[in-house]
Amino acid sequence: MHREQPIYLDFAAATPLDKSVLAAMQPYLADKFYNPSAIYLAAKRVRDDLESARRDTAQLIGARPAEIIFTAGGTEANNLAIRGVMNRFPDSQIIVSAVEHESVIVPAQCYNHKFAQVDSSGRVDLVALADAITEKTVMVSIMYANNEIGTVQPIRQIADAINQVRLKRRKTANRLPLYLHTDATQAANYLDLHIARLGVSLITLNGGKIYGPKQSGALFVAKDVELESLILGGGQERGLRSGTENMAAVIGFAAALSIAQTARRGETARLEKLQQHFFQLLTEHFPDVTINGNQKHRLPNNVHVTFSGIDNERLLIELDRSGVLAAAGSACSASSSSPSHVLRAIGLSDEQARSSVRFTMGRSTTSSQINQTVRALAGLVK
Ligand code: PLP
Repeated sequence: MHREQPIYLDFAAATPLDKSVLAAMQPYLADKFYNPSAIYLAAKRVRDDLESARRDTAQLIGARPAEIIFTAGGTEANNLAIRGVMNRFPDSQIIVSAVEHESVIVPAQCYNHKFAQVDSSGRVDLVALADAITEKTVMVSIMYANNEIGTVQPIRQIADAINQVRLKRRKTANRLPLYLHTDATQAANYLDLHIARLGVSLITLNGGKIYGPKQSGALFVAKDVELESLILGGGQERGLRSGTENMAAVIGFAAALSIAQTARRGETARLEKLQQHFFQLLTEHFPDVTINGNQKHRLPNNVHVTFSGIDNERLLIELDRSGVLAAAGSACSASSSSPSHVLRAIGLSDEQARSSVRFTMGRSTTSSQINQTVRALAGLVK
């Protein structure tokens, strides 16, 4: 059943570069190579393009241009958010959800930290989160949507709970700020990113997951947020991210974000239908299959299931031979054989975690590809 063009169902790991994004980037790899900080007119034009990309990005999320810091991807933006704030407030504490990506969890573990637990669908428990916040908490970091199981977090409600704490602090002598950061890496193709509606102080955006270039992205940092730079040098990006700007990446990221946000409603509606179709076929063919993640608050492109008794690594290798590219958990960490912390946090046993597979759809996914994938699975999962 192997075909020339494989069926790609791992869009949460990587997205192909949009052709118009590539076209927008190309001049900056060749003719427009000038350093945006140089004095001559040709370089000033490049600087204008940099600032124009910053304005476009800011406008898409309802921010001010000065609040956008371009970074080399999501990992760097998450590190700048967490380490930047925690280095500025070293005696304070950070709370992160138990299902964050490693680029949030690992930096948080360098400081006084606490995990906010999630329910069996992967949603943060609002009451438990509010209880976990102490007078020393300076930052809460909760991802917008999970990269493994697709669960979408109630960011607006979390922001409201945090506002209550801020109001209480104002009435006491506690002057410690309380920031809400969200990693929107997996959300930007499908969900609203408007900062006023979300109520967040920092947002991570990642070009590599929105049909833009890898190692491109941005951190939105609200004007009043105090944080320290991690990369010192020439003072680019408001002193928060020194180094000559990667113009092609910046232009590509801004173009990709604009396309993704313009297409998000249509793509959500289309993929929701495919997702329902996929789930229905799976439950018809495999009565024992269990669906992981939240059924209602879920990214439209995510199908994460457990086939009990199946070894997921073997299944993925067999699927690959059949021309279907899928994943077990997260491909965003260098390969690790220990079961996913996300699946553990939602209560799966190690054995169940090792029998779980993630399919993530994208712009080129069709209903016929889903049918073929389930047919391939039917031949492999007995
Ligand atoms: N955050 C989430 C939710 C992710 O899924 C990923 C990668 O998949 C990252 C952060 C890190 O992104 P990158 O590896 O592009 O820096």
